[in-house]
Amino acid sequence: MAGKKHTLPEEQQDNSKNKLIYSIVVVILTIIALISGKYNTEHPQETQNQNITVSDAEFQVHVMDVGQGDSILISADGQTLLIDAAESGESGKIVSYLNAQGITELDCAAATHMHADHIGGFPKVFASVKPKAIIEPVFQDSLIPTTKTYEKYLDAVEASGAEYKALKTGDAFTLGNAQISVLAPVSEHASSLNNSSLVLRVQYDDIVCLFTGDMETPEEKTILSTVDNSQLKATFLKAGHHGSDTSSGEAFLEQVQPKYVAISCGVDNKYGHPAESTLEHLRKYTDKIYITAQQGDVIFLYDKDTKSCNVLTNGKE
Ligand SMILES: [Zn+2]
Repeated sequence: MAGKKHTLPEEQQDNSKNKLIYSIVVVILTIIALISGKYNTEHPQETQNQNITVSDAEFQVHVMDVGQGDSILISADGQTLLIDAAESGESGKIVSYLNAQGITELDCAAATHMHADHIGGFPKVFASVKPKAIIEPVFQDSLIPTTKTYEKYLDAVEASGAEYKALKTGDAFTLGNAQISVLAPVSEHASSLNNSSLVLRVQYDDIVCLFTGDMETPEEKTILSTVDNSQLKATFLKAGHHGSDTSSGEAFLEQVQPKYVAISCGVDNKYGHPAESTLEHLRKYTDKIYITAQQGDVIFLYDKDTKSCNVLTNGKE
């Protein structure tokens, strides 16, 4: 038999050809399915920001690239919450960003704490985009800043005519179908402005997002000892204090177990934010860590129907 050539009858050749064509079609269809990402709700695609607006997904978090500061827009079913407004020099960017989203009024504005890189932009933002309500944390009188920035913030709050409230642990409100609860400050006795940061837990459908202002480990410890720790598990975490090594402690992250992390900080900032040690702690839980200094605006989207999350960046790199 060795070396003998076999010639298949014509019918068998046809069957073989059909099987080959069938196999090729199956392979091509599989490749198309993989590329289209239809199977891929657990491994979301990262794509470029194609001018997403608040009407494009029921729940959105926009961590704006505002240099060394914070400004975060949350939209839930079209209702809007702006957390912080960065330094005053970033107010133009924030106003343009909100306008591009078609936002002419904010349902709520939150000042996490009274430092310039969080409240500096509010006066100019409020002059263009009026808030219906303004919230801030309770904090002790001895921490009241004597800065011009704080004076201007207070004047802008008053001029806005918005409802104005200082909140603490246990307070809660809604934004569209999102349930928002205040995890901290526990009381007005925190020892620093950073550690009196307003920490918000936002639950929307099946996901939880945590917004931490400039909270450092003392406030994290207070939360761990006063709040039901099962409430801390979160899909999305805005890491505290620009990714500093004084925040995102291991005990806190162990409870949060974030799947997505955003860090807001400036390019080549003088503080060295984010700290490499903090990034290492975060990487134990996820490699989906987005840094505004590197990736520009970071947009986290949640689709209620498919229960899928997606992150877009504007491709600064
Ligand atoms: Zn800050």
